[in-house]
Amino acid sequence: MVDDMLRTPDAIREAERWTAHNYHPLPVVVAAANGAWVTDIDGRRYLDCLAGYSALNFGHRHPALISAAHAQLDRLTLTSRAFVHDQFADFCRELALLAGKELVLPMNTGAEAVETAIKVARKWGYQVKGVPAGQATIVVADGNFHGRTTTIVSFSTDAQARDDFGPYTPGFRIVAYGDLAALAEAIDETTVAVLLEPIQGEQGVVVPPAGYLPGVRRLCTERDVLFVADEIQSGLGRTGETFACDHEGVRPDMYVLGKALGGGIVPVSAVAADRAVLGVLRPGEHGSTFGGNPLACAVGTQVVRLLATGEYQRRSAELGAGLHESLRALIGQGLVAVRGRGLWAGIDIDPALMTGRQACERLAARGVLAKDTHGSTIRLAPPLVIEADELSYAVDQLAAVLN
Ligand SMILES: *Cc1c(COP(=O)(O)O)cnc(C)c1O
Repeated sequence: MVDDMLRTPDAIREAERWTAHNYHPLPVVVAAANGAWVTDIDGRRYLDCLAGYSALNFGHRHPALISAAHAQLDRLTLTSRAFVHDQFADFCRELALLAGKELVLPMNTGAEAVETAIKVARKWGYQVKGVPAGQATIVVADGNFHGRTTTIVSFSTDAQARDDFGPYTPGFRIVAYGDLAALAEAIDETTVAVLLEPIQGEQGVVVPPAGYLPGVRRLCTERDVLFVADEIQSGLGRTGETFACDHEGVRPDMYVLGKALGGGIVPVSAVAADRAVLGVLRPGEHGSTFGGNPLACAVGTQVVRLLATGEYQRRSAELGAGLHESLRALIGQGLVAVRGRGLWAGIDIDPALMTGRQACERLAARGVLAKDTHGSTIRLAPPLVIEADELSYAVDQLAAVLN
């Protein structure tokens, strides 16, 4: 046991020694995982209440996903898009049907899918809407998180994400999230798209005011602008519906998907839109060596099939209602605010008590993994396979930490 206790600090020191410090991980070295639980190198078990920032919506190593991956590893892993492979059509068709769109374009990471959406929206603007060459603008929201590429950080409002990474890509206008009047003001004849998260995850699970998303939809339709919904974190069951936009009955022109689409096994992302939008791309104009590879498609198809059952959305909605109720009971007992939908919560801890980081360290010491976002805010996003008693355990540990 004494020997065991030494392994975690050593492993952390070694990891820090050999990598750029672009993350500040909690002091836990994970070695194995199953379902909602992970085990560290010292044999300690933790309930995973982050779920890989929602990349693990179906839990660690879901049997259907692992078996699809194993089977595919034994047959074919990569062709590049220079050839067609036998997993491609199923994935694209089933994802398109799930999204209610005519076409899908697979990529790998979320940032690549956002870049794809930006490129498609601009091309659509020039070729379909008739925006003068080089003039396209895209309206985005304050507090957004869409990824880490140079273009994407160009329209971030987070200094940490943006500072010293310029020169920045032009063509973006930033408006207050949730403010329809500001959005209406920012749109003009050069505007090709409004790019938004229907719930802002990294910002602390910020839900816009009721009526905002339908208002965005209406404005985009009236002004001939594409509504692009970045559902990379909010989509695929996280909020209790397939897409967070579903809560308000809104259908964007383009969905941007990622994270859970790869089942926690491989990076898989995609955009989904109708032919009138995605049809603007011609051979040679956009691509990715690994995008839509056989292993990604085999896993992604199973992810879509899990979602098509509706079971995970239902679990998120039902368990999420209980989670939010028990979290709201902690307001005034160390919590100052609770936001979110389904099994997704942003909680603000009383900053006089401790930082979000300190709370997460104390939660980890009690066997619950979560991650702070900004300041005193923590995001809870457990895998959708979590059980009600496990969820109560997590909330009990949070209550104990706040005490
Ligand atoms: C995580 C995330 C991204 C970026 O995805 P990566 O796979 O990390 O590139 C983009 N948008 C949203 C809303 C995200 O949560």
